[in-house]
Amino acid sequence: QVVTRFAPSPTGFLHIGGARTALFNWLYARRHGGTFLLRIEDTDRERSTDVAVAAILAGLKWLGLDWDGEAVSQYERSERHRQVAERLLAEGKAYPCYATPEELQAAREAARAAGQTFRGDLWRDREPPADPDRPHAVRLKMPREGSTIIEDRVQGRVEVSNDTLDDMILLRSDGTPTYMLAVVVDDHDMGVTHVVRGDDHLNNAFRQHQLYNALGWTTPAMAHIPLIHGPDGKKLSKRHGALGVEAYRDMGYLPEAMRNYLLRLGWSRGDAEIISTAEAKEWFDLEGIGRGASRFDFDKLGHLNHHYMQGLSSGDLLHILDPYLVKHLERRPIEAERARVIAALPDLVERAQTLDALAGIATPFCNSRPLVLDDKTAGLLAKSREALTVAHSALAATDIWSEDAIRDALKAAASSKGLKMGQIMQPVRAAMTGGKPAGDLAGILVILGRDEVLARLSDQLA
Ligand code: GLU
Repeated sequence: QVVTRFAPSPTGFLHIGGARTALFNWLYARRHGGTFLLRIEDTDRERSTDVAVAAILAGLKWLGLDWDGEAVSQYERSERHRQVAERLLAEGKAYPCYATPEELQAAREAARAAGQTFRGDLWRDREPPADPDRPHAVRLKMPREGSTIIEDRVQGRVEVSNDTLDDMILLRSDGTPTYMLAVVVDDHDMGVTHVVRGDDHLNNAFRQHQLYNALGWTTPAMAHIPLIHGPDGKKLSKRHGALGVEAYRDMGYLPEAMRNYLLRLGWSRGDAEIISTAEAKEWFDLEGIGRGASRFDFDKLGHLNHHYMQGLSSGDLLHILDPYLVKHLERRPIEAERARVIAALPDLVERAQTLDALAGIATPFCNSRPLVLDDKTAGLLAKSREALTVAHSALAATDIWSEDAIRDALKAAASSKGLKMGQIMQPVRAAMTGGKPAGDLAGILVILGRDEVLARLSDQLA
């Protein structure tokens, strides 16, 4: 029975790397009919906030990564962590350390000067002091000989010499458990079989493995995934995508596209780029995780988002688009506007990569008169008064309001005035959309309706 977990520290939003870690754990559990658990690692009381917890939960929900059971608070399990440390003390596998910060600092500097690893083991072989209750930390007795080996499912076999491992602290002198202790106890108690996380935790894995050994517990399978870099190969910056998932929602990426994108950011199956979540749930494995750092690429994300937007029916798309339209219009679209937008969507969706961009080019289909024009469009319209006048009277006079009738009317008007088709079409289009991209002009005019079209032409002639 596979049990995975996502264990974020609630010190900020759910960032893109965390979201990918969560996705991989979720997919692995779903693929194997297992369990995906959520543990909030809130032991750092200074930096953990309820706002961050809420943001992480909201981010996971938006991404569609449902966890099984209740989210576990690591902080609330402190008593259990202390008990485990006491057990190790009683078994002689851990020992109290009474060294003061100054003593530790001096020993650290001495070790560095001698070119040795600082082991923090000042009290390892010492008799307890006369007053053994005075403040002390609890440290694990790390093995000194041999090496620690992790058969990592991504990194392969990784090994460190035990003489590089320090006697790590399990309980601080104020009695609080350390992250190292808490994570091992929690993973064990929660029955976690597979730990999939960022490779910034690989160094911790060796020490955690020794703690599992000391406790007589089995170390879960480990898979440390390479971090996400920016397109320039450097650490991911905000500009290059190091944002909370809610920023991606606000920019108008679909959860399905995000899942596909995050999956491909570090996992592959042949050269398939478009992988639905349903397929990923069947295919995801740890073998497909790459060893090299992946690079974040907004173009690829946009491309995938475009693909998934195209796959939606106009009705569904309009529904999802609604909050973005509201944002652009600064009000709710009325029914007539929604009807026009839905008619225009098949054309518009070809021209946008995000819901936000789609909403932007959909606004001309709402009652947004007079249109806001960019300089180029305003210039074009200003020098096209003749064409606009001609178009206005031709369109006012057509009997039928169909694409064909409109095309014929504009064509006849153009030739009667010795104008080229483009000389009429271009300004009319600009007067309808304010320069925003849209589909075929006659189609736009049909959707807008004669009254609205004539009004928009008149706006430019006023
Ligand atoms: N809380 C750790 C983090 O947010 C994750 C620890 C783990 O996955 O073992 O980086």
